[in-house]
Amino acid sequence: MEEKRKDLKLGKVYLIGAGPGDPGLITVRGKQLLEKAEVVVYDYLANPKLLKLVPKSSELIYVGKKGNIHHAHSQEEINQILVDKSHEGKLIVRLKGGDPFIFGRGGEELQEIHKEGIPFEVVPGVTSASAAATYAGIPITHRDFAASVAFVTGHEDPNKKESNVDWAKLATGAGTIVVYMGIKNLPIIVDNLLKHGRDPETPVAVVRWASTPEQESVVGTIATIKDVVADAGIKAPALIIIGGVVSLRDTMDWFEKRPLFGKKIIVTRTREQASELVQELEEQGANCLECATIKISPIKEPKELDNALERLQEFHWILFTSINGVKYFFERLFSKGMDARDLKGCDIAVVGPSTADYLRKYGLNADLFPPVFTGEGLAQALLDQGVEGRNILIPRAQQAREIVPENLRGAGAQVTVAPVYVTKPIAENKKEMRAELESGTVDMVTFTSSSTVTNFIKMLQPESPEELASLLKGVRIAAIGPITAKTVTDNGLQVDVQPENYTIAGMLDAIVESYSSEKK
Ligand code: SAH
Repeated sequence: MEEKRKDLKLGKVYLIGAGPGDPGLITVRGKQLLEKAEVVVYDYLANPKLLKLVPKSSELIYVGKKGNIHHAHSQEEINQILVDKSHEGKLIVRLKGGDPFIFGRGGEELQEIHKEGIPFEVVPGVTSASAAATYAGIPITHRDFAASVAFVTGHEDPNKKESNVDWAKLATGAGTIVVYMGIKNLPIIVDNLLKHGRDPETPVAVVRWASTPEQESVVGTIATIKDVVADAGIKAPALIIIGGVVSLRDTMDWFEKRPLFGKKIIVTRTREQASELVQELEEQGANCLECATIKISPIKEPKELDNALERLQEFHWILFTSINGVKYFFERLFSKGMDARDLKGCDIAVVGPSTADYLRKYGLNADLFPPVFTGEGLAQALLDQGVEGRNILIPRAQQAREIVPENLRGAGAQVTVAPVYVTKPIAENKKEMRAELESGTVDMVTFTSSSTVTNFIKMLQPESPEELASLLKGVRIAAIGPITAKTVTDNGLQVDVQPENYTIAGMLDAIVESYSSEKK
């Protein structure tokens, strides 16, 4: 057996700690390895968002274990998968929640791997005890309260005669005690602590889904925590933190104090847009569900644009009413072997600051942007300049409002509308969105354009306006500007949040404001 395997090229197994939940808490080394993994074998507690780092061609194998009851795969099967895949010569990442060597059975998996002579490495992770304490505002040690910490499993069978946990020594022997997998046995743990002399007034925190937007935490004392947890309905996965340090939470709770913590927000957007708004909202603590409602694609043969490019010097103005207009205009321009110098002599007007910022990436400053960031605002700003007899080019979406060209033509301008992209509705996460809304847990939906409104509603497929209203009952609606807001009200819904500034930053401020005024 040994002999035969020597000439096989074995793969390598990297046992990696995924961290406690927040995908940002994986190590740099863990991330690098995920980026080149060929097979990833992952658990229930490893945040699936991390799988986005893995190359598309790689194989993902879920072997989730939930509370050690519903094993998707037994430990033997998991070991076998690792062994089999390494015999295929693959780079395997075994991704486990928290740190792989802390109550993760990582040690057992490696023993198997070692037995088979398969090479391996281990990458530690932020263990959930450390993260739960930190994200609940509890320094796990503190000179005034605790000089030692014990990590303990609470999962032991209470009927077992001989416990591996020596509560008699632990109860008063460790300054801070953190119990993993202890929710079910909480009453027994409490009994053990009391029986062995820990002060019943010692503060205790229980933290569920630490470091994620679903984090929930409650605080009590050894005497009260059983009831506090039962009343709050806290279930696994959660950690129990016992010790004087818990009292520091009053001043150090930072994570759950962020302005949008606990708010579930559906952010509608186009599929291509990397959602700046999502990032900003999450930074403030929101739990964002991204909902792509439209797909944007360039027009393959943009005839009007091609004609215009041939006589570009004739235009006095180019108007950009969206980032995508800029993007696809330049893609076509470059494909003709032209570049920014060919715009010499043309003035450029944009609808607002985001489009202006985007234009700057091409080395161009906008000459004009309106005080009000809408099509009407843009048209008016140009009318104020005087447009009679001016040649104006508008690269834009195929389906767009005619208000800008009409207003300009009305004032005697020569307007060339050049469609450069099309928007198509998509319904990728239709089921998920309906289910979320039906569950009544969604706090807000955000819309950043009229088409996101129309397509989101189309995607939900309500049978009647009443059904739509009932799906969105209690859900606040945020619209970036007046045009988007009108589309919302045209659909029989109400706009709750609308920024003064029609930008992503303005939108974020208005959303935060809408919840902070509520707290007062
Ligand atoms: N290796 C993991 C622990 C696995 S044991 C680590 O280092 O964190 C599983 C237990 O870890 C759960 O029952 C729960 O007690 C705890 N746990 C893991 N992730 C958690 C989280 N995000 N929030 C609270 N507890 C968590």
